[in-house]
Amino acid sequence: MSEKNKINDDRERLITGQEAEEETVFNISLRPDSLKHFVGQKHVIDNVNIAIKAAKKRKEGLEHILLSGPPGLGKTTLAHIISREMGSKITATSGPAIERAGDLIGILTNLGEGDILFIDEIHRLSKVVEEFIYPAMENYQIDFLIDKGPYAKTIKFNLKRFTLIGATTRAGLLSAPLRGRFGMYYHLEFYETEDLVKIIERSSELLSIPLDKDAAIEIAGRSRGTPRVANRLLRRVRDYSEVKGNKKIDKEIAIAGLASHRIDSAGLDDIDRKVMKAVIDFYDGGPVGIESLAATLNEESDTIVDVVEPFLLKIGFLKRTPRGREVTKLAYDHLKIAYKKESQKELF
Ligand code: ADP
Repeated sequence: MSEKNKINDDRERLITGQEAEEETVFNISLRPDSLKHFVGQKHVIDNVNIAIKAAKKRKEGLEHILLSGPPGLGKTTLAHIISREMGSKITATSGPAIERAGDLIGILTNLGEGDILFIDEIHRLSKVVEEFIYPAMENYQIDFLIDKGPYAKTIKFNLKRFTLIGATTRAGLLSAPLRGRFGMYYHLEFYETEDLVKIIERSSELLSIPLDKDAAIEIAGRSRGTPRVANRLLRRVRDYSEVKGNKKIDKEIAIAGLASHRIDSAGLDDIDRKVMKAVIDFYDGGPVGIESLAATLNEESDTIVDVVEPFLLKIGFLKRTPRGREVTKLAYDHLKIAYKKESQKELF
């Protein structure tokens, strides 16, 4: 593992929204399989529900859908639910997996009428592949070039009317022409604690983990608004509780279990604290540009932007200004560091 990938390493980071491989099976078993069981995101679910009903009534496929939001909020889950509710087949791939336009030809030509093509991390498609996908999305046609030089000719191939569901953590990185080709665009927000409590209670039932309501609330409060993190913390607390010989997880066990993983009352871990402390120690609380911050921490700036910063921004510990990232007074208070910024020092 390269030094720069350490935030992504789940052994080190319990609270990343990104999925570790061994977790996939566990998560699939916990995945809600209908819109009815999808907790939270009400405005998205209501709209998706209407779109599905209308498409079914017209006996047509769905328009292409773009889902955005931080990792672990349910984009993949929702894509699978949509395919199930539409009664259609889903083929799943991801932006980085499609290296050449040729990789896409096989996938697209195998899609049946109304099938769903799910592309995760769609912002990471290469420019060439992206351009290749435009006519497929728009006219259900692809052009491919046979032969080279003077004998080269383009052949048009008609595709079945499929629905593309794209998922992205960074909608801002999508080119305007690609974004414009999606008929529906939904942004998933971090979940409220009460929704996470419901998700944790449902998971504990599915996994037969006896759990008090207070313990569920405690875990939910530290899950940084993310269902994947909630399920992961539940699993860690279960391990802790089992090792300690408890039959049921109560609030105390939950708190002790989470504390043993150094997750604090706000759901922050060592890496969140390291990022904020770097801004405070090296940049007097900011503002600091993301690239300078990444260099100071020896981390990829993408990782800070995708994994660390969204939740810190949401809870108001970090502020994004035109001049860079700034740590707020709220964060100083949380870290128990006296709030004394350069600009104010003159006053003392
Ligand atoms: P994303 O694609 O946004 O990274 P996933 O769809 O893989 O996120 O979700 C991660 C896990 O979180 C799922 O396996 C599922 O167990 C759980 N999950 C996500 N959203 C919900 C939800 N609304 N209700 C219940 N569980 C959810």
